[in-house]
Amino acid sequence: ADAFNRMLERLERAFEQQSRFVADAAHELRTPLANLRTNLEVVQQDPQASFSDYKEMSAVLERTLSRLEKLVEDLLLLAKGEREIETEPVEMEVLLNEIIQEIEPLARTHQIEVSFHTTEPVIVMADPPLLSRAIGNLLENGIRYNHPGGSVTVGVRYVTTGVEIDVKDTGIGIPLEAQPHIFERFYRVGRSRTRDQGGSGLGLSIAAHIIQLHGGNIRFQSAPGMGTNFTIWLPGIANEMTDDPQS
Ligand code: ADP
Repeated sequence: ADAFNRMLERLERAFEQQSRFVADAAHELRTPLANLRTNLEVVQQDPQASFSDYKEMSAVLERTLSRLEKLVEDLLLLAKGEREIETEPVEMEVLLNEIIQEIEPLARTHQIEVSFHTTEPVIVMADPPLLSRAIGNLLENGIRYNHPGGSVTVGVRYVTTGVEIDVKDTGIGIPLEAQPHIFERFYRVGRSRTRDQGGSGLGLSIAAHIIQLHGGNIRFQSAPGMGTNFTIWLPGIANEMTDDPQS
């Protein structure tokens, strides 16, 4: 009977989490949609609206649509199951150089130096676009939550159980009280501030979900004003099928 009750409790908790997720997702979608409607109505109801008013509106619509598209893609990614990933041997140096090249414009805007170092060639079994997304999200945060002139450093190394990837920044750090929550879906520290920066609060939950799909885990160390260090652990190729003692 105890085991049965525990199972019921677990199911109930899972169900509650699920409904909260749906409510949060609907809320996130509603805000840009309302924004679209307001913009449309303002111009439509103004008999003197000029061509340039319409042009201005179309720019707002485009920005809002991009945000909606990104949100829908993020939600689909979070719904991905383990069977939907396609792993192959990935050379970390190649993957990381691609990711860093892609993020360079953002880094330049924020005046952040992004660098990568490793002492040996490292290969992992991974779904390349998904792993890029997970590491890219960590890099993006390291850039956004940083000070101009700061840096983000990526390191890769073999450990006895697999591979570790470090993403270390010199940024603002994560407040102690926020630390237990940062992997929660839609959680943001200082909600309004990060929303202005385009964050939906899904970046870290997506990174964690992707790493979990790969059988790995993700941890971090952070102190306000002292920067943040995220570490991804992925199982090694040789012991891919064995249980990870860390997870
Ligand atoms: P967001 O879309 O807000 O960036 P994330 O899930 O990526 O959502 O991150 C959740 C919160 O964790 C962010 O709002 C931010 O305050 C905090 N955070 C994440 N990464 C870092 C970092 N490298 N340095 C400081 N704070 C961070």
